[in-house]
Amino acid sequence: MSPIIYHDISSLREALQPYRGQQNDKQGRQQRIALVPTMGNLHDGHLELVKIAKQHADVVVVSIFVNPTQFGVGEDFDSYPRTLDADVAKLATVDADYVFAPSIDAMYPVLPPPTAVLSGAIANQLCGQSRPGHFDGVGIVVAKLFNIVQPDVAVFGQKDYQQLAIIKQLVRDLSYPINIIGAPIVRADDGLALSSRNQYLSANERQVAPVLHQALQELAQSLKSTALSQQAFDKLLVDTRTRISDAGFVIDYLEIKTDELGSIMSDSTTFNIENKNIVILVAAWLGRARLLDNQLVVVN
Ligand code: AMP
Repeated sequence: MSPIIYHDISSLREALQPYRGQQNDKQGRQQRIALVPTMGNLHDGHLELVKIAKQHADVVVVSIFVNPTQFGVGEDFDSYPRTLDADVAKLATVDADYVFAPSIDAMYPVLPPPTAVLSGAIANQLCGQSRPGHFDGVGIVVAKLFNIVQPDVAVFGQKDYQQLAIIKQLVRDLSYPINIIGAPIVRADDGLALSSRNQYLSANERQVAPVLHQALQELAQSLKSTALSQQAFDKLLVDTRTRISDAGFVIDYLEIKTDELGSIMSDSTTFNIENKNIVILVAAWLGRARLLDNQLVVVN
């Protein structure tokens, strides 16, 4: 069945009202509402989030909104692909119940909004460093979507690892009664993480793009299998950067962090990853596309 589309906040709220506080017939528990926030131009990665949402809720709302406040000057807000009809058709295949596709005016009566949702240190590194203000835009739009939909569950992709960490922090700090689920990265057969921005790649660049994932996997393997000195660790990072650059990428960042995005250095000079789960994070340009990827490394 095709999902029902709402463009304004009050109609969506009205549609969701009957689910609140209702018992689910089968199990006798309260009905649950799930939210999957997206910017549209949906691919199998997004559809996987919807499938996970369906497992955790009775009704699934997918928001489709290219959020202006999370784009910087000179970024791809205007050219970002908008494909609502195709998106709705894809969402029908995974039984999404409602699509919320608001106008900019509906979301932002005043733009830029004078109210801010700031995320502090966690947002000032990695993508936040190269895209100043990006996570402030993510923070306000997600806070608004949470207030509009009031979901019990919200599903976000681990592909945007830093975003997921920021949203978990938001939920904790603003006491949202929402269970945040992180969904594994969905990849093409050759390993490239699916992304709406992959379509900016030329045919040649698309051939090269899987190098990013391969380089992270190999680095993860080396980090796991070797007892590393600081020197060996530095060399591994340099070698990985060289490999990615030689393939034609311009690296924005390649960093290794704890899985909570803290420093892996136990002090400013000592390297110690023992007993820490770590994550390698990368952002790199290939032509017009800024690609993101990450790889968790479980250190035993
Ligand atoms: P976007 O439309 O790019 O804002 O993404 C919407 C949601 O889908 C975010 O939570 C992303 O992390 C998630 N997502 C995008 N691509 C993937 C992917 N390849 N695998 C898993 N989740 C993804």
